[in-house]
Amino acid sequence: MKFNTKTIHGGQHHEPHTGAVMPPVFQTSTFAQKSPGVLINGYEYSRGANPTRTALEDALASIENGSRGLAFSSGLAATDCVMKLLKPNDEVIAMDDLYGGTYRMFTRIYQDMGIKFHFVDMNDLDKFQSLINENTKLVWIETPTNPLMKVVDIEAIGKITKAKNILFAVDNTFATPYLQRPIDLGADIVMHSATKYLGGHSDVIAGALIIKDAELGDKMHFLQFATGATLGPQDAYLVLRGIKTLHLRVQRHSENGQKVAEYLAKHPKVAKVYYPGLENHPNHDVAKKQMNGGFGGMVSFTFKSEDKADAIKFLESVKVFTLAESLGGVESLANHPALMTHASIPEPKRKEIGITDDLVRLSVGIEDIEDIIKDIEQAFN
Ligand SMILES: *Cc1c(COP(=O)(O)O)cnc(C)c1O
Repeated sequence: MKFNTKTIHGGQHHEPHTGAVMPPVFQTSTFAQKSPGVLINGYEYSRGANPTRTALEDALASIENGSRGLAFSSGLAATDCVMKLLKPNDEVIAMDDLYGGTYRMFTRIYQDMGIKFHFVDMNDLDKFQSLINENTKLVWIETPTNPLMKVVDIEAIGKITKAKNILFAVDNTFATPYLQRPIDLGADIVMHSATKYLGGHSDVIAGALIIKDAELGDKMHFLQFATGATLGPQDAYLVLRGIKTLHLRVQRHSENGQKVAEYLAKHPKVAKVYYPGLENHPNHDVAKKQMNGGFGGMVSFTFKSEDKADAIKFLESVKVFTLAESLGGVESLANHPALMTHASIPEPKRKEIGITDDLVRLSVGIEDIEDIIKDIEQAFN
């Protein structure tokens, strides 16, 4: 099956009793048994499995080419489940530009539990390799990164982690499997904030893991079941519904994102534009190699004035864009990373990696591109 068919049919079956094309929302906590311990259709208690969630989990496995999909109550709950594979003294090497909440979980929760983290720009493969030792158990990346749109060569990292028997996890929230499928490129685990493009309509908080290896998939299902941050059936339904149009939406997000990036790159008030689809992006070649069909809808930029006040005025002036956290919904959103999504990263660290106070991040929606560009134009004036 091609990707654009998998989003609709991957792992899906008609509901056996009625032929319902979409799975009902099985709003039930528990399932009747024939005899103690003898289940009717494998379902026992909804924390372990629920048919609506199963439909979503099978769709997730299909679109990311994994053997197992797991749906969580948030993206961070999904990440947390991966971290539970680790033990004190284990080491993690992570990309130096990460979603703020991921960085916060690593440094304020798991670091205190005895896990050691190294943050490094993984475009520097030598530096990355120099940090590997016998305690290294996990490599964690995002690509493109949030909010600076750095691109990491998944295949290059995957070769190294495979040779050293280190788990390799990729947060694929920004690219989505429409543009990039990390498991095909050497990742062991794909993580999603399904709140973003997978759900796609800004109406649900959800997370996902897709695991390449079936045995590791079973282990992660055990962790999900045993710690309990599962996705409810109503929310699972919403994410599954979103996935049905993922290919169409991300195609348009990418077209609009490219046009916005090109417009900003020519704007006299703009200093830097961060977008992997621009030829002058430092990792444009890697992006072209591993992303297919576009470069996504996320665009960040800074002002020539370097003035925080200009960024704030821009964000107060947009009308088609809504000033709000989050991303990946059909509607355009604008955000100030330093004050909003990335405020949890200490200021010196923010400055060091380039999240300056004049940085604006746009989640370009699927409205008409003329309205989007006009809105940006008026917000600069
Ligand atoms: C939003 C986001 C997360 C966290 O997901 P939640 O659903 O908010 O818990 C993780 N990674 C990236 C890249 C995100 O954008």
